[in-house]
Amino acid sequence: PLVLGIETSCDETGVGIVRGTDLLANVIASSMDEHARYGGVVPEVAARAHLEAMTPTISAAVAEAGIRLDDLDAIAVTSGPGLAGALMVGVGAAKALAVALDKPLYAVNHLVGHVGADVLDDTEHLEYPTIALLVSGGHTSLLLVRDLVSDVELLGETIDDAAGEAFDKVARVLGLPYPGGPQIDRLAAAGDPKAIRFPRGLSQPKDMAAHRYDFSFSGLKTAVARWVEKKQDAGEEVPVADVAASFREAVADVLLTKAIAACTDLGVPRLLLGGGVVANARVRRLAEERASAVGIELRIPPLELCTDNGAMIAALGAGLMMAGHAPSSLGFGADSTLPVTDIQVR
Ligand code: ATP
Ligand code: MG
Ligand code: FE
Repeated sequence: PLVLGIETSCDETGVGIVRGTDLLANVIASSMDEHARYGGVVPEVAARAHLEAMTPTISAAVAEAGIRLDDLDAIAVTSGPGLAGALMVGVGAAKALAVALDKPLYAVNHLVGHVGADVLDDTEHLEYPTIALLVSGGHTSLLLVRDLVSDVELLGETIDDAAGEAFDKVARVLGLPYPGGPQIDRLAAAGDPKAIRFPRGLSQPKDMAAHRYDFSFSGLKTAVARWVEKKQDAGEEVPVADVAASFREAVADVLLTKAIAACTDLGVPRLLLGGGVVANARVRRLAEERASAVGIELRIPPLELCTDNGAMIAALGAGLMMAGHAPSSLGFGADSTLPVTDIQVR
């Protein structure tokens, strides 16, 4: 089926068009620059930006795909989780489009959408079950996906900050601009990852018993801030590259330790990565090393499909449709805390 997907859960206005598992268009307008001076996404600013970007982004995607809106078989939209005001803009636009065109509408889960992005890759599709590690500015979640359209389980998630959020906060401590992830990644390349031993959250034996698949990054952020402050107070120069490299190592280590543990514990020989933090060079490298060491198939979709986008939402909508799932009724809303087990909102 020919499906148009709309994504507005955070700061990207994403509109994608797919035919089954073929990617026809993936257009993204981001309001990231508008948030830079606040050091993080401002919900109200993001919602207003979605409203302005929505119509032009839909038009651009339709032109890129070379289709007419009338040709569509269905519309899909992210109904959660995410920023409530931002989600509402996408949900409103999708409902309007569905009613005006008289097409079925699928309201879908943003996190499951990240997993669905894999089918748009040119390579052979991922088999199930798979473990999925989703790491972005808003999420750090470990999922067991037995079936994309019918069976997704949350194994664990961050109990405080998301990994991308930690990158952004540590960047601020180091006086680097937002978003901090790419900045720290670049600086870390010139540093020594073993220079400073920063804490690995929830990795001690007692924590592993209760939080085996959960993450915590706020203690790490505080540890980095304290370490930097101490240097500054002593009037010493802060070795920024070493701090960046050591911090990046701590994040990558704990992410991959837990993801690989989930694979081996549950006997699942596949690991899919998604979310903006997947751009991180050390996260990618360590994922490759650790996965190949234990014979796990590692999947990392192209970066434009890892960060928030509309194509992954269209792909999940098409997947639901192909599996014979009925469309959503138009009464659904935006659910900022939609659980990952709700793949589709009826
Ligand atoms: P959501 O959480 O809803 O998916 P988001 O906008 O926070 O939304 P993305 O756009 O996928 O998510 O990712 C942005 C995050 O990824 C930011 O926190 C950014 O710092 C981080 N990031 C981007 N590139 C890198 C990198 N090379 N290394 C580490 N973090 C990175
Ligand atoms: Mg973003
Ligand atoms: Fe996302």
